[in-house]
Amino acid sequence: MTIRKKLVAGNWKMYKTLHEADAFAQELVEYRDMLSPSSVDALICAPFTALCGLGEKLKQVHVKLGAQHMHEAEQGAWTGEISAAMLQDLGCEYVILGHSERRQFFAESDEAVAKKTCVALDASMVPIVCVGESLSEREAGATQTVVSRQLGIVLEMLQLQKAKGALDGAFVIAYEPVWAIGSGKSSSAQDAQDVATLIRSLVTATLGQRAGEQVRIVYGGSVKPDNIQTYVQQPDIDGALIGGASLQVASFVALVEQV
Ligand code: PEP
Repeated sequence: MTIRKKLVAGNWKMYKTLHEADAFAQELVEYRDMLSPSSVDALICAPFTALCGLGEKLKQVHVKLGAQHMHEAEQGAWTGEISAAMLQDLGCEYVILGHSERRQFFAESDEAVAKKTCVALDASMVPIVCVGESLSEREAGATQTVVSRQLGIVLEMLQLQKAKGALDGAFVIAYEPVWAIGSGKSSSAQDAQDVATLIRSLVTATLGQRAGEQVRIVYGGSVKPDNIQTYVQQPDIDGALIGGASLQVASFVALVEQV
């Protein structure tokens, strides 16, 4: 049986100046022993402006560094964008792709998310690919259809990479129902587990048994220290992607401790 390391990933969104990010890393030093690397990967996905130098500070407290977004092109005339190589320069090991806020407010398509996933893997970063249904889609009973569509194109592109022998490296899929993000309303653990089972079966069907066993699936949507356990106890849920509750040191540490 494959043992998948749990992942507790903080998404700071557009919060924290450089000074505030430094203060967070500094305060984490007090909790260094609680952020043990053995059973859990603890991760902070910080805004671009805070990435430089933050990775070194987080490493000292066993926390990894990630970004929240990335462009798929290697380089070029893409004002305001950032490439995989640039994120790597800054020490990012992970990158969130296709967060619902990017899909909703910046019109990121399933296809763009799929391309970015391949580019991140090529650059040896771990992509965290976000999928999830809106409230109206959920009410229409379309959760599984939406998640299958969003993931379908990602998996097709990964299958092509695999056929070329170029699929190398781990990836993470975050199931984040849009209605649960930042709303204080979270999915029931059973509903999240049902979608995670679907995701794992789609990965297995497209990329094979090994990939299906190894892919880490995390839940996101109003996760807090007092509810994270109910999710990570589910057999197909390997951690959480957390926005609001990752912004304070005490609650970030408590999230890691609960896993
Ligand atoms: C997120 O930003 O991905 C998220 C899940 O936010 P929150 O935990 O605040 O709902």
